[in-house]
Amino acid sequence: MVSLGCPKNLVDSERILTQLRADGYHMSPDYAGADVVLVNTCGFLDSAKEESLEAIGEAISENGRVIVTGCMGKEAEVIRARFPNVLAITGAHEYEQVVEAVHEAAPANLSPYIDLVPDAGLKLTPRHYSYLKISEGCNHRCSFCIIPSLRGDLVSRRPDAILREAEKLVAAGTRELLVISQDTSAYGLDLRHASYPLKGGGEVRAHMTDLARELGRIAPWVRLHYVYPYPHVDQVIPLMAQGLVLPYLDIPFQHAAPNVLRAMKRPANDAKVLARLRSWREICPDIAIRSTFVVGFPGETEADFEYLLEWLDEAQLDRVGAFRFEPVEGASANALPNPVPEELKEERYARIMAKTAAISAAKLQAKIGRTFEVIIDAVGEDGATGRSYADAPEIDGEVHLRDAGHLSEGDIVRVAIEDADEHDLFGVPL
Ligand code: SF4
Repeated sequence: MVSLGCPKNLVDSERILTQLRADGYHMSPDYAGADVVLVNTCGFLDSAKEESLEAIGEAISENGRVIVTGCMGKEAEVIRARFPNVLAITGAHEYEQVVEAVHEAAPANLSPYIDLVPDAGLKLTPRHYSYLKISEGCNHRCSFCIIPSLRGDLVSRRPDAILREAEKLVAAGTRELLVISQDTSAYGLDLRHASYPLKGGGEVRAHMTDLARELGRIAPWVRLHYVYPYPHVDQVIPLMAQGLVLPYLDIPFQHAAPNVLRAMKRPANDAKVLARLRSWREICPDIAIRSTFVVGFPGETEADFEYLLEWLDEAQLDRVGAFRFEPVEGASANALPNPVPEELKEERYARIMAKTAAISAAKLQAKIGRTFEVIIDAVGEDGATGRSYADAPEIDGEVHLRDAGHLSEGDIVRVAIEDADEHDLFGVPL
């Protein structure tokens, strides 16, 4: 990224880079290491334009694959006349277009095993929601996972830097922040939960609870992903009850049977998890819990699997994604004895899907007749589509609205729920 011009342009550059980071891209410190060079131009004065053109020329001669964005994007003909080989030209604040141009010029190598943002998130993240990465790496060593060997141990970002980024995202139109990391509940451990000064005075601790509270003061909606049920997670539930953070937790349980969890080397999973879920619901009755599970892990017996099904009956999770175990190159689980035959994996997969779909459907039915806030993702002629607090983009359900053609993307409106099917709700704005 070559960023020219005023501080506003710099903020745009940071916004673009933030999105690209969330999409799995890395910054290169030099031209040689880059798959594509972004030049964020300034067009304020003739001298600034000339400087922008020189920067484009340098990027073309040093690298060759160049995307131009920023104020000079308005003068695409001038740029094309001098540099016919530029890959794409977009204007100032056209974040979505420039990110899309990067996706086309240098497709990210997405892997379901190492990337946090859903594949579909790559297509284009609309302006009204943004992923906010709070740390990299992970201190756990789950036996099916290769992330620690790829990305190393937990490295948390400073909380003041995260809050600054959140403020910029909100100023640029974000209404919903999706907090991501490999283990959000471990945030700040490596910083020893130290305190950092806040811009307007006061301090913020590098701790999930404090960060969630401060983010809740900045953005209308804050959604927490990849949280493990450690005891201190109890402290964020009151923030949900107060409306500072969405009453939604994405907890990748992966299994419930003690034998399997032990073989998986999963963090913070013990017999008390069900009791913890119950106590969370006492404080915040509507809390939505989403999770993922792996079936057919090596050594999973029929008894283990049935334990999981019974556990799911108790846990009453709102949304569940299930996966059949697949060995990932380099994962220690591959060497475990007693692999589960493929047909058995399929059978268990069908059984867990049937069980969790029925639970989710019943939970959706229970919402008919109630009202919820909905964030609008798309607007048609008469209707609109949005999501409630219980629906993260791309991975959960949607709320389909009638008589909603007057709404705009990013609006947060109160909706009366009139109907539900297996995945989605249907309603009308009040
Ligand atoms: S918690 Fe486990 S699965 Fe998640 S990133 Fe860390 S090692 Fe991988």
